[in-house]
Amino acid sequence: MNDKMKVRTRFAPSPSGFLHVGGARTALFNYLYAKAKGGDFILRIEDTDKERSTDSSIHTILESMKWLGMDWDEGPEKGGEYAPYKQSERIEIYQKYTEKLLAEDKAYRCFCTPEELEDRKQKSDSIGIYDGKCSHLSGEEIETKLTNKIPFSIRFRTPAKKLVVDDLIQGKVKFETKLLGDFVIVKSDNFPTYNYAVVVDDYLMKITHVIRGVGHLPNTPRQVVIHEALGFELPVYAHVSEIVGTDGKKLSKRAGATSILAFRDLGYLPECFMNYMSLLGWMPEDEQEYIPQDKLKQIFDVKKCSKSPATFDVFKKLKEGEQVDFNSLDINSLAEFLNPKSKLNWLSNKYIRDVDLDYLVKTLVPFLKNDQTIPDRVKDASSEELKSIVDSIRVYLDRLSQAPDYISEFFNNEIYFENAETKELILNGNGRLVSSKFFEIIKSETPSSPDDYKSMISKTSEETGEKGKNLFMPIRAITTGKSHGLELPVLFCLLGKDKLLQRMKFIGKQIELEF
Ligand code: GLU
Repeated sequence: MNDKMKVRTRFAPSPSGFLHVGGARTALFNYLYAKAKGGDFILRIEDTDKERSTDSSIHTILESMKWLGMDWDEGPEKGGEYAPYKQSERIEIYQKYTEKLLAEDKAYRCFCTPEELEDRKQKSDSIGIYDGKCSHLSGEEIETKLTNKIPFSIRFRTPAKKLVVDDLIQGKVKFETKLLGDFVIVKSDNFPTYNYAVVVDDYLMKITHVIRGVGHLPNTPRQVVIHEALGFELPVYAHVSEIVGTDGKKLSKRAGATSILAFRDLGYLPECFMNYMSLLGWMPEDEQEYIPQDKLKQIFDVKKCSKSPATFDVFKKLKEGEQVDFNSLDINSLAEFLNPKSKLNWLSNKYIRDVDLDYLVKTLVPFLKNDQTIPDRVKDASSEELKSIVDSIRVYLDRLSQAPDYISEFFNNEIYFENAETKELILNGNGRLVSSKFFEIIKSETPSSPDDYKSMISKTSEETGEKGKNLFMPIRAITTGKSHGLELPVLFCLLGKDKLLQRMKFIGKQIELEF
């Protein structure tokens, strides 16, 4: 490609399952690179494997892309100059090129059955390379077989040569094409194979950069020789590093190759998840990992990606021998496997603190749906009451799905001690005295801001002589029944004096402490 060409990248998923982190990261790097270069990002559905492709998979892939905010410029639902963007609708296009290859003897029909191929493979010591049985059939032989309707596939006549692919990330990679053999480019059902369709489409769709997982590097020489045979200019290749789990092993079903939509349901914001994924194999020059989307779209550069595997640290390392299929877990069970110290959680907390409050509340409302303690009037994005509560609790959240527990705190008046240890916080030492004094002070004053409550806690300290833990823990326990949670002055202020006193009475009764 020359420098004046508009950058065009593509994400080309095979719709045989959901979109997982590996695929989404590939999509993201293509998206960001196109955006950073003022180019176009194309979505193409590679559904030539009839057996494995499903419409529901296409649906989840599109839904995941939309959730992440990776808006494609051309593709399904959008159309574009090079439509259709679904390979199963492009069969005639591939046929045209196949005829050309056949006419130029760069491809040939192979009438061997799968059973014959397997049988010969077992008997030979080759590594599964086609033995070329049909490579030199005479015109007559071919005609007879065609007349007899013998099914055939089409094989590419691979020229034996040394190839060097100059990869933007992996550097110069050498290949010997004779190790590829004459591979199939059109299956007996007339559908092209992946390696063939991808070449025709990348060319026709004017793709300038092919950015994809390093697992596709071994496919690249096949694609290069087809490009050359058809006289197509090569795109620039960039193969991004593998993603490994916290255990250092390739992400698999067990180690967390979870659907992208699970991260939405776990309560991560899409902007945050995008930021997190951008760091899987790439790092900005200033090494600042919190990168708002506008900036990401400007500074991302695929050339700066690393060759080393990237660690997806979102889930805890499983114990030796522990077997879990992450995709069969419901969201609450999946949440148990989250690594609380992940980079994702760290970033997520930053995003939840920083994003626009109205947007945060709107995104959070669906998570409140099943909480019975929270009144319906509050489960509404326009509720001012909800907004002020969310604003006061956002600093505590790593995920939106943690919000109901905090929010219900404001509406639950029948609070019980979470456990015996929390009770002990009041029963031991000066806990009773601290609790009573605090009650009296609040009762006799008219607090209206978190600062007012702060000074009342200080006053309790002066009057009881208790400080630090011995002061705060009993106050927390008598007001919340818990040993940790929201910042107390903020909570008290949002509850208001009357509710706070009522709560203390209710909790106090459980330990025979009457105020
Ligand atoms: N359909 C291929 C896949 O899902 C695309 C590979 C490519 O980007 O060339 O892995």
